[in-house]
Amino acid sequence: MTLSRLIFVCVLLSQPCSFLFSQPGKPNTSTRNGSGDYLLRPDRIFDGETFHEGWVVRVKGDKIDVVGPSNTVSTDGAEIVDLKGATLLPGLIEGHSHLLLHPYNETTWDDQVLKEARSLRVARATVHAQKTLMAGFTTVRDLGTEGADYDDVGLKQAINQGIIPGPRMVIVTRALIATGSYAPKGFSPDIDVPQGAEEADGQDALVKAVRRQIGKGADAIKIYADYRWGLMAEAQPTYTVDEIKLIAEVAASSGRAVVAHASTAEGMRRAILGGCKTVEHGDAGTPEIFALMKQHNTALCPTLAAGDAVSQYRGWKKGVEPEPERIKQKRVTFKQALDAGVTICAGGDVGVFSHGDNARELIMMVDYGMKPSDVLRSVTSINADTFQLKDRGRIKPGLLADLVAVEGDPGKTIADLQRVRVVMKGGCFYKR
Ligand SMILES: [Zn+2]
Repeated sequence: MTLSRLIFVCVLLSQPCSFLFSQPGKPNTSTRNGSGDYLLRPDRIFDGETFHEGWVVRVKGDKIDVVGPSNTVSTDGAEIVDLKGATLLPGLIEGHSHLLLHPYNETTWDDQVLKEARSLRVARATVHAQKTLMAGFTTVRDLGTEGADYDDVGLKQAINQGIIPGPRMVIVTRALIATGSYAPKGFSPDIDVPQGAEEADGQDALVKAVRRQIGKGADAIKIYADYRWGLMAEAQPTYTVDEIKLIAEVAASSGRAVVAHASTAEGMRRAILGGCKTVEHGDAGTPEIFALMKQHNTALCPTLAAGDAVSQYRGWKKGVEPEPERIKQKRVTFKQALDAGVTICAGGDVGVFSHGDNARELIMMVDYGMKPSDVLRSVTSINADTFQLKDRGRIKPGLLADLVAVEGDPGKTIADLQRVRVVMKGGCFYKR
């Protein structure tokens, strides 16, 4: 039995919230001892914005009930959870995941899309979901099934129904691409090769595709504003500004935002002017483009870890060889985004690298120039605000009791985020 399986079994056996794994015929209620309240007592809490030493958090049912200095919060009727040496944070929010992908050094993206059975991909995704939750990430914004159609819809349902452990999911289903721009590529023009996202262009088809994806379950619309379809296979813009505006207008009718993959300056410019809420990657941004992002309140999800992982898959020996041009350039443009005051989301494009290793992005954000406390804000309150998740991302009365406790103090040493001691989602312990 592997360690992860053992942990899963232990979680099942020690599961205090029986409704998560309720059996047919059994009451669909919590069986927590006493009143069902918990009092969590760490060394300090990070509430999503600032640190408080000696504060405690009282949880009632699936919500945060009281937060404050320990001498002001009643312990009556609560089970005390002593977290000495630990920092308690809001459940972390992964801003850019693909639960239906696994690392490209295991199987190339093309082969995952073209050769893996959908059932295989979903089976893997259930394990990815569990690893993500155990790493302290209680929410993921999952940005595209990459050829697995609407399989994120059922995955999200399986988690919400307590069939499998996993994070809360914000999903985009298939994502939208301009015809001919995406991948897999390189096949005979005589055959139609399945693509990693849905092709749609122009007024009628785009309106219909956006509405269809929403109807199937998309919480946001993802577009590829550029992709590697230039004459030299370099990234070039895809959709026109008018097409992006149309997508954003149709999505906004239902209260949904648009998120754009864009790495070129022109792709980013079109995404910003088209009304996208976040730009993913942004590798070739310029000071002018970042100023435009600031002006339009467009957030950047830098996905530092994805570029780092791909460079290593291509042969770069990190720590031994000098940084390749791509990495050096990314450091420069990320710094430009920080200097321009752009809102920075936290999202690593996890799936390109291992699920459960989500904190890799947060460690790199510090390495690339952010303060640890700013990174902690990004991965909690800023991600929640940017993704319109009003019920989480902070430790505040009335919000969901999604909490993670880590050893040490990640406000000083960001890598402490990898030392997860406790994971609670909706008032239930998944790791304790
Ligand atoms: Zn991605």
